[in-house]
Amino acid sequence: MAEEGGGAGADGAGAGAGGAGGAGGEPRLASELGDGTRAVRAGLPPAEQGTPFLPGPTFAAPYHLRGDGIAEAEYGYGRYANPTWSGLEEAIATLEGGAGVHALTFPSGSAAVAAVLFGLLRSGDVVVVQQDGYPAARDMATENMGALGVRTRLVPTDTAALVDAARGAALVVVETPTNPGLDVVDLAAVAAAVRETGAPGARLVVDNTLATPFGQRPLELGADITLLSGSKHLTGHGDLLLGTVATRDERLLAAMRGWRQRAGAILGPFEAWLAHRSLATLDVRLQRQCASAQALAELLAARVGDDLVAVRYPGLPGDPAHALAARQMRAFGTVLTFDVGDDADRARALLAHCELISEATSFGSVHTMAERRARWGMDAVSEGLIRLSVGIEDAVDLARDLTRALDATR
Ligand SMILES: *Cc1c(COP(=O)(O)O)cnc(C)c1O
Repeated sequence: MAEEGGGAGADGAGAGAGGAGGAGGEPRLASELGDGTRAVRAGLPPAEQGTPFLPGPTFAAPYHLRGDGIAEAEYGYGRYANPTWSGLEEAIATLEGGAGVHALTFPSGSAAVAAVLFGLLRSGDVVVVQQDGYPAARDMATENMGALGVRTRLVPTDTAALVDAARGAALVVVETPTNPGLDVVDLAAVAAAVRETGAPGARLVVDNTLATPFGQRPLELGADITLLSGSKHLTGHGDLLLGTVATRDERLLAAMRGWRQRAGAILGPFEAWLAHRSLATLDVRLQRQCASAQALAELLAARVGDDLVAVRYPGLPGDPAHALAARQMRAFGTVLTFDVGDDADRARALLAHCELISEATSFGSVHTMAERRARWGMDAVSEGLIRLSVGIEDAVDLARDLTRALDATR
């Protein structure tokens, strides 16, 4: 594990390199407030007469910066800090766990993964990732980290396998629920294994993209860092890419911020503003999406053994992940999969028959989307597996569209 030899200020330039509000100030919103309230209010500035609720984006490369006292300036150069990021970072920190949590934003979820791996690992370290984890993260760990002398342990999505693999590891990266597998890992059990059997200073990182901070709070379950692709639910409108990390550990924060500053992997101010604006509706979007996903999963489950081979959704009582998900998660999510069997043609025809459900990759958007996952050739999945991401359209319309397409292609 990296001993932080210089994080925030390591590039010599002090201004904005980690000043108080420069990146993820202490969340000011009480954490006992409900999810909907926090979604609307998190990261907004104090109510000053005549100012907007959410200030518009600040577009700046250099900021005015006179004299030598640059370390005191919150903002000095656009690659180090930006006020529009600061508001969003405070909001993310609020949602991920509140007091003592700090967040950083990145231009994509993959850049957030890079900040974790490149910022924290050193030659000789062992990193654990899942075989069916997000492909960019898995490949970055094996190929890029491997080239730097980091050893990667690839393990199946299984709590016992991850607990085993944590022995001697510097970093364990867990994605739960996985996608498209929708398997769930016991985070508290893996966190205990990382603490007890990991290398000195070992850390647990949780990719919380699928669950979102409202579906699951990894920092409360023992994770050191939680990361998200905000390109999915967090922003939810299918119109921007975003990555975030959040942690209580100042040293980890400084290492990841230092990497961001040196690599220049920074979010544009306009995207930061759009993302913050979108957060306000996160709770209402998720409530609707999760309820519709449950209804569609039940509709599909009733056809298993008839024209479907399997349905996976953690919210189905018969699902292999249900018991653990019910214990660990606060909502079962917006993504489900169903399998028409080893029949790529039917899966293609079914998607072509849908009028409302759009064929597209990704998930978490207000638009309902589905795809035949095997078309990517990246996951070990059946030819007929369809991943469905449920949006905020009326559930009855979605059910009708899906039923029509299933009936027409059975
Ligand atoms: C999409 C995704 C990522 C990568 O995020 P981008 O914003 O596309 O770079 C990482 N992890 C998970 C689980 C994802 O779904």
